[in-house]
Amino acid sequence: MASALAQRVLVLNKHWQAVSIVTALAAVCKVYQGKARIIDENYAMYDFESWIETWRDAASLAVVSTERVIACPNFQLVVPEIIILKDYAGYQHKKVKFSRRNVFERDNYTCQYCHRRFNTRELNIDHVMPLSRGGETSWKNVVLSCIPCNHRKRNRTPTEAHMRLVRQPFEPNWSHLKRPTQSNVPKSWEDFLGKMYWNIGLVD
Ligand SMILES: [Zn+2]
Repeated sequence: MASALAQRVLVLNKHWQAVSIVTALAAVCKVYQGKARIIDENYAMYDFESWIETWRDAASLAVVSTERVIACPNFQLVVPEIIILKDYAGYQHKKVKFSRRNVFERDNYTCQYCHRRFNTRELNIDHVMPLSRGGETSWKNVVLSCIPCNHRKRNRTPTEAHMRLVRQPFEPNWSHLKRPTQSNVPKSWEDFLGKMYWNIGLVD
């Protein structure tokens, strides 16, 4: 039972876009509270009661991996693989965290001055307007820079250093953050993950 509740469930917003991954426990709670519905492999939607009803018949349960079944006193709970939020406000507007890692993702591990790709440790986070001159540490003032470009720019603005940014820094939304394809995801997720970029944060 513990392992069933720890399984990962894909969360879609009401436009059927993948927005996060949560534990089965968190997913089931959302469905139970009426905040989300379960999607099956045929894209049919269920609320908590109708989902339980679907699995009343022992024959239907036989096709489900035992790892997905939680025996409750009066019913068997099959852990969903996908849920869809009824009200997506909290997710759609959820901001991408301003973090070192997400700056790397936004800039695609590419120096924003010479446009070459590097390993993480060959890149610095550069303040476009230098910190020492009042530049902020924010999405709109930091970019990835390789070490040679960083040395060349020094304590100057790009204009002063005669260096051009490939792209102005900006605050990204989820669609700008591309993740490598996850291995070992449930088959039912593929339709939603294949066509989109997403962030894998484990959210409660
Ligand atoms: Zn560079």
